[in-house]
Amino acid sequence: MLRVGINGYGTIGKRVAHAVSLQDDMKVSGIVKTKPDYISKIASREFNIYVPDRAAEKKFDDAGIKIKGDLGKLIEDSEVIVDCTPEGKGEENLKTYKDKKIRAIFQGGEEAGIAESSFNAYSNFNESIGKSFVRVVSCNTTGLARTISPLNDQFGVKRVNATLIRRATDQNDSSKGPINAVEPSLKFPSHHAPDLKTVLHVPDVETVAIKVPTTLMHVHVVELTMDRKATAEDAINAWNQRKRVFVISGKDGRSSTAQIMDMAREIGRDRSDLYEIAVWKESVNSSGEKLRYVQAVHQESDVVPENVDAIRAMFQLLPQDESIKKTDHSMGISGSVI
Ligand code: NAD
Repeated sequence: MLRVGINGYGTIGKRVAHAVSLQDDMKVSGIVKTKPDYISKIASREFNIYVPDRAAEKKFDDAGIKIKGDLGKLIEDSEVIVDCTPEGKGEENLKTYKDKKIRAIFQGGEEAGIAESSFNAYSNFNESIGKSFVRVVSCNTTGLARTISPLNDQFGVKRVNATLIRRATDQNDSSKGPINAVEPSLKFPSHHAPDLKTVLHVPDVETVAIKVPTTLMHVHVVELTMDRKATAEDAINAWNQRKRVFVISGKDGRSSTAQIMDMAREIGRDRSDLYEIAVWKESVNSSGEKLRYVQAVHQESDVVPENVDAIRAMFQLLPQDESIKKTDHSMGISGSVI
């Protein structure tokens, strides 16, 4: 069993830890927490707890939480670290990982240059085979790569035009906004366009990003220019062959992100997560070389299965299709549940 250490146990870290714990070819050696808060108390029931440096140990002792050591000790106890620290911290940690000669996975908040390859299981799994440092792209980029990649494989995509309506922050965060404003990114294209190109080889990508006051999901309005004509039916058939894309209909009540996330709660998903990208069937339309659709992305969880597959690619545990199948099966990723 490959020993996986999780550095940073927030929105992404706790989900990756749980996903790793569901696999039979890897296990969680421990997690790094900075504060002895309620999350540390809950996590200590299941995982070994480490701290970034020994200075934090007394706080945990005082709170009655047993500590196994510092980040250096977690590195000794692990074969790979999944770095889920806040944006920019991964860059600082890279030096430690290199000095201690441990392999690491970074998240999409880090610049692409931090790693030898950026990763999406559908579009470029093989580019991370045997690598020491890999970056799983952001939730938005993962959402785009997931639905565009099967279409690119079957029909070829010349150009991507996407408008990303982004959630303001995650559900457990009361410190960020906006809470009563719509905030466009004033950079064109937004950073998502070059990011998508790190995992999907499409010649031309343009993205516009707008932040809105919601915490549930992102919504993407996508227009593709195809090499070969793809009808709405062709696109839906292509997505139906991939379990990480979920074609839904607004007709049975799932007409907004509120009902999609309610569905995830109703079907009893862990943490009420929806790992799949939900595409509204009614939105898929084509004319000439254009194909258009609208999709919803659960930002807190879509990257989680990608981290598991990235570990398998780096350590050559399984080839692409088998790894994806194993991860999907273990996490209950089904592509359609109703
Ligand atoms: P988060 O703030 O929810 O979690 C980060 C955790 O790291 C927190 O628990 C924090 O206390 C801890 N931390 C801070 N400094 C640390 C240190 N020095 N050592 C160890 N732990 C430390 O952040 P997140 O949303 O989980 O984001 C993590 C990464 O994942 C970022 O790169 C982000 O861009 C990316 N990401 C986030 C989302 C999302 O929607 N939240 C989606 C995809 C990718």
